[in-house]
Amino acid sequence: MTSISSGSPAGLDPRIGRLERHIQDLMEELHQARYEQRRDTLSDALTGVGNRLALINAYNDAQAATAQGAAPPALLLLNLDGFKALKNSAGHAAADQILVTVAMRIRSAVRDNDVVTRLGGDEFAVLLPATPQSRATAVGNRILAALEPNIDLGNNSVRCGASMGLRIAEAHHSAEDLLQEADLAMEESKNEGRNKLKVFDPGTLHARQLQRQIVGELRDAIRSEQLVLYYQPIVELATGRIEGSEALVRWNHPVHGLIMPDQFIPVAEATGLIAELGRWVLRTAVRQLREWRQNPATAGHDFSMRINVSAADLQSLEFVDDVSEALAEESLAPESLVLELTESAIIHNNELDRYTLASLQRLGVGLEIDDFGAGYSSMGYLRKLPVDRVKVDRQFVKELGKDSTQLGFLAAIQQVIRSCGLDGVWEGIETAEQAEALRSIGCTSGQGYYFGKPLPEAEFTAQLARQDAWPA
Ligand code: C2E
Ligand code: MG
Ligand code: MG
Repeated sequence: MTSISSGSPAGLDPRIGRLERHIQDLMEELHQARYEQRRDTLSDALTGVGNRLALINAYNDAQAATAQGAAPPALLLLNLDGFKALKNSAGHAAADQILVTVAMRIRSAVRDNDVVTRLGGDEFAVLLPATPQSRATAVGNRILAALEPNIDLGNNSVRCGASMGLRIAEAHHSAEDLLQEADLAMEESKNEGRNKLKVFDPGTLHARQLQRQIVGELRDAIRSEQLVLYYQPIVELATGRIEGSEALVRWNHPVHGLIMPDQFIPVAEATGLIAELGRWVLRTAVRQLREWRQNPATAGHDFSMRINVSAADLQSLEFVDDVSEALAEESLAPESLVLELTESAIIHNNELDRYTLASLQRLGVGLEIDDFGAGYSSMGYLRKLPVDRVKVDRQFVKELGKDSTQLGFLAAIQQVIRSCGLDGVWEGIETAEQAEALRSIGCTSGQGYYFGKPLPEAEFTAQLARQDAWPA
């Protein structure tokens, strides 16, 4: 065995020096490899900015600094507007080029110690350590401005704006909480027309949570008889005679009490529960009408039942069958049912809508446009649609008396309705003066608190039985 401690003039074997250098090199290589590995695990391969893990690390560091007295960090979350469409039209390579440019522009709009990351797809997040809301907003707007110029793709150039959400971290936030709340703000900004920055609003979070809770509970509510129908009269203006009753759904919630339709119909529509809800309303209202016709105290009133139908119903192939079955089960003639459709429900005017409307018309039920004038209001389509009635939105009656020209305006609307061969119903009549003004311009039917508020079944039955109480 060779001894390495002998032979060298300085008393040191040269092999030791070589070995030491070798070890040194190996250590450096290892260090570099570790550094590169760490950089790779923390960076986004395409754009070179940080990735989700880098964001979480930076957030944890910033929160640790906050615990030591620093100001909390701010998170800007942004999503490119229309990126999917751009990717489909320009191709994958161009899409990558856009992402790289966007990352570079964001990087150049912020300070060195701000952490720019891509979370995947076209979603970027920027963590600004110890940054108050006013400064974070300014940085956010600077980023949006930096994204404004067209991006050059060689043979063409594209514009790629972004929608941005801002959330200042709070002590209890995990990185995931912070991202979720910034995401909510970003969605709001998308909804409000893009290329905007929105600051997180706790009210939105609350509304979202309530909506989520409502979705879960609504399904059970339909089955466990928590829904109720209220009925509101539609009267003949000249005589006060009830010519119809509109069924308006309410949710009798075991904890929150009576919830109005505006709070759950949109949720039901968005989740597809509207079909089941609509079937329940149809059957319940039709059964009620048959009961009123059979009840000796109310049988003298020959009026129709009006129900509100949603856009989804017109898109359902079973809807026409549901209506005809419900009527047949209660032995009611189709004319005794009027379906109220909002302008937005029929505005799609697609094949299925037209088919459903034509089938309903053949069946013989009444069709009415509800809230006429509230939305798109094209007088032109009044003539094209297979409807026989129009209910004018209550905003028009509300304006009565405020302006001397309003009555003339209502008279013109009434004239258009009549000249299209349709019947007009005026909703939102709250005073005797309004009723009288409408009568004076030839309106024949009305609905509103003046004639009666929506009432639960028993109370409406009692009012029917004392029809004399209706003002003439
Ligand atoms: P809509 O069909 O236009 O119903 C009229 C709304 O105006 C009702 O509100 C009614 O209570 C209210 N109203 C009636 N007279 C007056 C008045 O004189 N002044 C004022 N300020 N308001 C009056 P409600 O019951 O909250 O219903 C809101 C909307 O929810 C309805 O508007 C309808 O679009 C929808 N909706 C109600 N029930 C159903 C349903 O069973 N199915 C569907 N798809 N939608 C429904
Ligand atoms: Mg209605
Ligand atoms: Mg209406």
